Amino acid sequence: MVDDTSKERTEMKNQLKVLQELRNIDKSLSSLQEAFEGLKGAGELTDEDIDFILQEFENFATGKDKKMEDIRNDLRSLYKRYYSKFSERAIVPVKNGVCTGCYVTIPPMRIDLIRAMDSLEVCENCGRILIWEDDDV
Ligand SMILES: [Zn+2]
Repeated sequence: MVDDTSKERTEMKNQLKVLQELRNIDKSLSSLQEAFEGLKGAGELTDEDIDFILQEFENFATGKDKKMEDIRNDLRSLYKRYYSKFSERAIVPVKNGVCTGCYVTIPPMRIDLIRAMDSLEVCENCGRILIWEDDDV
């Protein structure tokens, strides 16, 4: 007999893992962007440097598009909606019991759900998608 509940939970876990990976891509992209702007502003980049960096952006974007394909439609549109609002801070980890997007306290019961990756939880205050991140990451 197939256990539907456990199948659903596994699927939710996989979806949340993709969201975690998306967050890492967004984070890398924004630090790359920041470094790029800084160096460009300081006039320290040659044309080749700029070409190389633009290529890196391209690679990230392609990688992100691929990841997006792995996400369920409803989650993808949710993510897109928050991404347009919060950019790379659309998905945030819960740290020390608070949403790291707006620093509001998350009830322990919901933290348990987020840690277990059993359901998609969004911050009731700022609406960001909440994920669990291990401390050693
Ligand atoms: Zn929040």
